[in-house]
Amino acid sequence: MAIQVYNTLTRKKEEYKPINPHMTGFYVCGPTVYDYFHIGNARPFIVFDVVRRYLIYRGYNVRYVMNLTDVDDKIINRANERGVSSAEISQKYIAAFFEDIQKLGVRPADAYTKATDHITDMITLIERLVENDMAYESGGDVFFNVRNFEDYAKLSGKKLDELQVGSRIAVDERKKSPIDFVLWKAAKPGEPFWESPWGNGRPGWHLECSAMSMKYLGESFDFHAGGLDLIFPHHENEIAQSEGATGKPFVRYWLHNGFLDIKGDKMSKSTGNFFTARDILEKYPATAIRLFFLQKHYRSPIDFSDEVLQSAVTSNERLRLSYQKIVEAAGDVEAISISESDLTEEEKRFYSMLDGVHSEILTAMDDDFNSPLALGKMFDLFRETNRFIDNGLQTAQSRQLVDLARQRIDEYDSVFGVIDRSKAQVGQDKINEVVSTMVELRNAFRKERNFAVADKIRDALADAGLVIEDTPQGAKWRWGA
Ligand code: AMP
Ligand code: ZN
Repeated sequence: MAIQVYNTLTRKKEEYKPINPHMTGFYVCGPTVYDYFHIGNARPFIVFDVVRRYLIYRGYNVRYVMNLTDVDDKIINRANERGVSSAEISQKYIAAFFEDIQKLGVRPADAYTKATDHITDMITLIERLVENDMAYESGGDVFFNVRNFEDYAKLSGKKLDELQVGSRIAVDERKKSPIDFVLWKAAKPGEPFWESPWGNGRPGWHLECSAMSMKYLGESFDFHAGGLDLIFPHHENEIAQSEGATGKPFVRYWLHNGFLDIKGDKMSKSTGNFFTARDILEKYPATAIRLFFLQKHYRSPIDFSDEVLQSAVTSNERLRLSYQKIVEAAGDVEAISISESDLTEEEKRFYSMLDGVHSEILTAMDDDFNSPLALGKMFDLFRETNRFIDNGLQTAQSRQLVDLARQRIDEYDSVFGVIDRSKAQVGQDKINEVVSTMVELRNAFRKERNFAVADKIRDALADAGLVIEDTPQGAKWRWGA
């Protein structure tokens, strides 16, 4: 079955048909780097990375691009407050952004595009718009001429007349129409600026994304994503700028994530009700935070609270232990091919459960990336595998089947990233340390001819499934009977 995607532009689910069979272009609006990002901002970074990973898993060659808005009013204001340059502010928070998304287990984009590295591309785009009579200069600013772009507001479904009424309060003499928006802002004292055909100035935020996405993904590409709040005006204006310049459809599928709310209100920097992702990462493992997000559909709202996160931590811990048990039970299986006719009834049932779960997970994810449903199926797989292990793995085929379950889990988790593997590693290292110390103690007791204690240590280790072998180099240990 083909992947179905909910497209904000058409307001329905549509089959995903790549524009270019060799490259799936995917652009996600990234952060404005004037502060640490909050845990609400983390949602698009996590969920669209999962969508991208799933597309890759399904065989698409995805090119994933994210912008870094490093010229903006908010950055300039922050720089003035702190008495430093805008560049200092943006560099600091770009570095922090990379640290935080890495900790959150977000895979790096194929390209991160900084607005200040692409000013020439932005100026070229504005020139095209001016040529097409879609833009005009006025007192050093350049505005988009909304009335000349027929399709304006097709993404948000807003009515031009209502927009006009809404914006009447802020009458701006320089504009032909109150709904025209700025593409290029004339420089003001103390602000960063670049030279342009319209004098010194800087680009508008919406324009940055049009210029950079088309530069890296072409004039028409498949996916463009961001939070719901970006539908209007940001994405609406991106469409106007891009299509106004090229005359071609800009983006085929528009994806928008729902908000992370806190006590019923959108988590937001401007209202002060937010927690930074770094603070949350201090308190909770990244895999639990990912589980918290992915257990909700990306378009639904999520309420943030310590209780909900705490329950994600509990599930995450159960998942970790369960995964560890599966890995240990599979052990170092000998690679034999599974022959269905040799399987016991119980093994046959387990084998067909694996295939059943596999197709259920694909069906869920194919249906507009329904991660909560897919994760539920993955939990079923854990439960069934643990039950199968508890019944005793008598045959090589049984162990092979558990290893197949482990491989499938690893495959699914390459999309979700919700299994905490760091602790499993630490756990193993700690065990090695403790066992080595016990072996050393046993050696010391033997040297003192205290065989009673030495044997007690050996027996305790044997009980745990560890064998001590006395070699000319001293005692060594290994797992086994
Ligand atoms: P910003 O840095 O404000 O441009 O936001 C970066 C991304 O986070 C954008 O895609 C926003 O739509 C998204 N975003 C902002 N606040 C929230 C929230 N409370 N919940 C989910 N996404 C959000
Ligand atoms: Zn954008």
